[in-house]
Amino acid sequence: MRSVDEHLAEVLAQVAPLRPMELHLLDAHGCVIAEDVVASAPLPGFDNSAMDGYAVRSADVLGATPHAAVSLQVIGDIAAGTQKVLAISAGVCARIMTGAPLPPGADAVVPVEWTDGDSRRVRIGNQPPVGAFIRRAGEDVRAGDVVVPSGSLLGATQVALLAAVGRRAVVVRPKPRVVVISTGSELVDLGAPLGYGQVVDCNSYALVAAVREAGAIAYQVGIVSDDQQALTRAIEDHLIQADVIITSGGVSVGAYDVTKAVLGRLGTVGFHQVAMTPGMPQAFGVVGDDIPIFGLPGNPVSALVSFEVFVRPALRRMLGTEPLGRPQVSATLTQALSKPAGKRQFLRVYVSRHGEQVLAEPTGGQGSHMLAGLAAANGLAVIPEDVTELPVGSAVSTWLLERRGR
Ligand code: AMP
Ligand code: MG
Repeated sequence: MRSVDEHLAEVLAQVAPLRPMELHLLDAHGCVIAEDVVASAPLPGFDNSAMDGYAVRSADVLGATPHAAVSLQVIGDIAAGTQKVLAISAGVCARIMTGAPLPPGADAVVPVEWTDGDSRRVRIGNQPPVGAFIRRAGEDVRAGDVVVPSGSLLGATQVALLAAVGRRAVVVRPKPRVVVISTGSELVDLGAPLGYGQVVDCNSYALVAAVREAGAIAYQVGIVSDDQQALTRAIEDHLIQADVIITSGGVSVGAYDVTKAVLGRLGTVGFHQVAMTPGMPQAFGVVGDDIPIFGLPGNPVSALVSFEVFVRPALRRMLGTEPLGRPQVSATLTQALSKPAGKRQFLRVYVSRHGEQVLAEPTGGQGSHMLAGLAAANGLAVIPEDVTELPVGSAVSTWLLERRGR
């Protein structure tokens, strides 16, 4: 028996951030950037109007009020994208649209709401200060600024900025490609009729979803029966496209637990009893060209909790991002609990905030085959190995999973 921390340490020692490569901007979405991106030009690129209105010399509208409007000749229109340059001299103005370049000579924009909106001779009922409603070149980003530092995870907002500064491609760490295999001769794919003693393969769906939620790319191989040849072939066939392989099932002590036999032969894989519940039997090692492989237990809750505890941190390290684990809160347990000594328990809970207090409410059946309580949970309370009894109201350290709502 080894501890959760020992097993996790072995896993993390085996994985490293993937080697950076250049990807098209949208393919880099969700990746961690591996270069400092510097703006080669300012943003905005030129002084432009913040409003639909009139580009004026502020001195020409000095003292304008709703009761004493100033009227100016309009010498033309400046739309966004206009190439023609209109210069503004004393006593005239130009109609201008949001984002259009400020014409030479103008030092303020009067919003159309302050005027009668005329296109030839406009009456202006308010006096703009110098610089009013002008977006200055470089006020957002200066040329030479680092806009996206190396190590940033590229979400929609970083993609926006990278596009704005003209980057079509960026150097990022690629997302790990994760091959997901379910083992079990009792398994049937979704949609097929269930015969006697058969169950739907939910692990490959669950693990593909979990891989995606962790920010990696999943390949769903699906079901492989408890047959050594079939499993060997499935793993060998998919090694080429894998940065990580996950199997579920067949790692405990059953007579037909073939994963153990196959992984032991294909690579350097250790089989461990990890002091945790759910998820005690775990296989981990490398196959092929040092591809990490996780042999997770078959019970669906064990598989997903093992993914949380061991696989997700590994995938995040490969992505090149921190923190590896989930955010944690200290929460107040709403039910008493007893558990065996010597194992770390991951308790399915619903975390909610009530004023100052954060409550962790167990979400029902905690058996390792019981998915309903897992699906209702938004947290995992981590009960330490040495604890055997927890009274109602105990403080428990709780991982916050991503889902919200009930
Ligand atoms: P195993 O780890 O192979 O001994 O499987 C443990 C339990 O999990 C058994 O009840 C299996 O039927 C079940 N199980 C294994 N793999 C899956 C799967 N992919 N989907 C649903 N249940 C599974
Ligand atoms: Mg099995």
